[in-house]
Amino acid sequence: MILLPRLGLDAKVAKKLEEYQQEVLIPRGYTARVAEAKRLFSRYNSKNNATFKSVKAVLTQMCSGARRCSYCEDSVADEVEHIWPKDLYPERAFVWDNYCYACGPCNGPKNNQFAVFVGTSRNPTLLAHPKSKKSQPAPTLKKPASGKPVLLDPRQDDATRWLTLDILNTFQFVVSAKDKTRDAARAKYTLEVLGLNRAPLPTARAQAFDGYRARLREYCEEKRAGAPASRLELLRDALLRVSHPTVWVEMKRHHEKVPTLKPLFAEAPEALFWNPLPGAGG
Ligand SMILES: [Zn+2]
Repeated sequence: MILLPRLGLDAKVAKKLEEYQQEVLIPRGYTARVAEAKRLFSRYNSKNNATFKSVKAVLTQMCSGARRCSYCEDSVADEVEHIWPKDLYPERAFVWDNYCYACGPCNGPKNNQFAVFVGTSRNPTLLAHPKSKKSQPAPTLKKPASGKPVLLDPRQDDATRWLTLDILNTFQFVVSAKDKTRDAARAKYTLEVLGLNRAPLPTARAQAFDGYRARLREYCEEKRAGAPASRLELLRDALLRVSHPTVWVEMKRHHEKVPTLKPLFAEAPEALFWNPLPGAGG
C-alpha cells in the first residue's frame, strides 16, 4: 500500500459531489443522516451517473497497474471505497478525499470496521453501530467517538513508513514502527483489517519481485550495450507501470541487503529515484 498520487476532480464534478453531500445533511439527526448517506450513495454511484463516471475515471488514474486495488495492489479495483465508512460518517459519504478504488476481497471484510484514538490513548477504540434485527424497528444510532483515525489512509499516509515488506523471504508485511506507539497500532490494525498478508498476496508479491528484477536487469543490459535514452526511458516507464508498486519501493529501500539486487542498482543507480507511475488504467 503506497501513498496514492494526489489528483483532483474537475471543478464541475467537485461541485456536484458537494451538492450530493449537502443532500445527506438535509435530514435532522445522526440516525436519519446515516440512512440518507446509504440511500443517496447507492442512487448516485451508478453506471449512468456522469459525476461518478468522472470520479471513477480519476480513481482509475490513481491506481497502480491495470486498475489494481489501492489497498492490496493485486486484484481489480471495482468498488468506490469510503476510507472513513459512510455508515459511521455520513458527513463524508460524498467527500472526494475519502474515496479510493478497492477490490471486493479488501472492501468486503473491512466493511464498516473503523477505529480511532480517543484523547491521548495509544490504544484503538473500535467503532461500530449495534447490529439491528430485521424484525425490530431500526435503533437510534450514536455518533462515533471522536479522535484520530487508526486505519492507514492511502490518500494521506505513506504506509511504507510503518509497514515493511519482507522481500528476502516471506513477502509478508511486518510492522516496523516503534513498539507501543500509535504508529505501530495503526500499522497492526491496518494489516489485520485489510488482511494484507492473506493468501495468495505473498505469492503475487514474490512474482512481482521477479518481474521487477527481470525488467531492471533488461534495463541494465541495454544501458551497457549503449541503447539510446529514449529506449531506456521506455524500459523505465514499463517497469514503473507494473502492479504491486510497494514491492518496487521495498526493492529500492532494501537493495543493499539483497544479493541479486545490489549489482543491478550499482549499475543503474538512477533507478533508486524512480517512483511508481499511476497505472495504465483500463
Ligand atoms: Zn484489494
